[in-house]
Amino acid sequence: MSIAEAPKQTAPEIKQTQCFIGGEWVDAASGETFETMNPATEEIIANVAAGDAEDIDRAAKAARKAFDSGPWSKMDARDRGRLMYKLADLFEDNFDELAALETLDNGKPISDSRNADLPLVIDCLRYYAGWADKIEGKTIPIRGNYMCYTRSEPVGVAGQIIPWNFPMLMAAWKWGPALAAGCTIVMKPAEQTPLTCLRMADLAQEAGFPDGVINIVPGYGPTAGAAVVDNPLIDKVAFTGSTEVGKMIMKNAAQSLKRVTLELGGKSPNLIFADADLEQAAQGAFIGLYLNQGQCCVACSRIFVEDDIHDQMVDKLVGMSKERKVGDPFDPSTEQGPQIDKTQFDKILGYIESGKSEGATCLTGGGRQGDRGYYIQPTVFTDVKDDMKIAREEIFGPVMQIMKFSDIDEVVKRGNTTEYGLAASVFTRDVAKAHKAAATLKAGTVWVNCYDVFDAAAPFGGFKQSGLGRELGEAALSNYIESKTVTMSLD
Ligand code: NAD
Repeated sequence: MSIAEAPKQTAPEIKQTQCFIGGEWVDAASGETFETMNPATEEIIANVAAGDAEDIDRAAKAARKAFDSGPWSKMDARDRGRLMYKLADLFEDNFDELAALETLDNGKPISDSRNADLPLVIDCLRYYAGWADKIEGKTIPIRGNYMCYTRSEPVGVAGQIIPWNFPMLMAAWKWGPALAAGCTIVMKPAEQTPLTCLRMADLAQEAGFPDGVINIVPGYGPTAGAAVVDNPLIDKVAFTGSTEVGKMIMKNAAQSLKRVTLELGGKSPNLIFADADLEQAAQGAFIGLYLNQGQCCVACSRIFVEDDIHDQMVDKLVGMSKERKVGDPFDPSTEQGPQIDKTQFDKILGYIESGKSEGATCLTGGGRQGDRGYYIQPTVFTDVKDDMKIAREEIFGPVMQIMKFSDIDEVVKRGNTTEYGLAASVFTRDVAKAHKAAATLKAGTVWVNCYDVFDAAAPFGGFKQSGLGRELGEAALSNYIESKTVTMSLD
């Protein structure tokens, strides 16, 4: 894959702005549209169909038909896999365009779209394509003269609601296991970033996915999103986004006992011990916090540094933060682009103000960068106390909190003192310390001497209020499968 070179496109053509339902591009039934913005310039990129409950219902009917009686229901599992491989190939063929479209709509640096997002998307689809014909049941030796076996059947129509921070990747994480299991899809992309998801659906049609297997309805959360949860033709809801909305979804889904999986927020602790490789630890903390403008659910926004090396580590991280290249996301050397929109931009600046007013020390950054686009300076706070707002709440921006610790039991306890439990990390050369921390940190993912290492084969998800269920790996398939037990008399 040719990924490291400079972008070939900076102004991709906007090909799809309508809803994709039953294999057709259609306006929202209401005729309404919404604007999707370029966060680097604050300019409108396109007007996109604003779907609502009526469009979700049309999409659910198309998905239901494809699942119950359409060609998808009769397709051999291996051929489903073949289509998924073909789709991954088409993503590769359209690599430049997709990467540019993601950067335009989301503001992430083009080097990230090309070197991280898109390669992970393609890898994820290929990984799940390989699973399509390997989802098996069991034969079970029960008492009596019976033959008992299980069938792993697709759950049906999957409603999938995704956020704006990794638009293509979140779509791929949800399409992969759903399609491999044999489900059909009604997806609602985030209103901030609908464009790549629509283009992905277009390429799925080109790959030969039958009409109704993948349906996309752009729109707002309280209208289109809520309708996914309420629609009786949808069997399961998979959601990634804020914990607040996740709770609402779980409550509403309970009305029909829809299956629910949730991937929510975090306030991940990063423990740096004095015996760590300090260069490696600084790199891990830096990427772990700043990746994607800090807009990562796993961002290590609580960095605990052991006393002896605290000042040295602070110096390193402040120096690196000052060097971070913030600017035009289409410049291949840019490391940090704008935040996604004005709402997030204002929210992050509010957290920075709260850090200052609660007595933390801001050593670099601390404000807006430039006067056009939603850019925020890489910001480092020290003297952060565990009960400060910036140490408790998800900031979702380029704002680093550094705290001191002196003992492993103390720091694990402090690390676990949060309602979240998505990720954690440990930097140490002491194997026993690493294992002890990995075993006692309450998080769905613990990275040791690394950060943000994702792979389609490794399960990912949250403890506590960071979520329910696991995405990726074999584990994610179970979200899209119903197990049926068949017991047959042999008399
Ligand atoms: P959000 O949870 O409101 O939005 C995520 C998705 O859910 C979007 O597609 C949105 O349209 C949809 N949605 C919103 N309200 C809904 C509802 N009532 N019913 C169904 N769907 C609904 O997140 P946001 O407002 O875009 O961001 C707010 C905060 O959420 C961020 O500051 C961050 O803390 C967190 N967040 C987390 C992740 C993550 O990956 N875990 C991603 C994005 C945002």
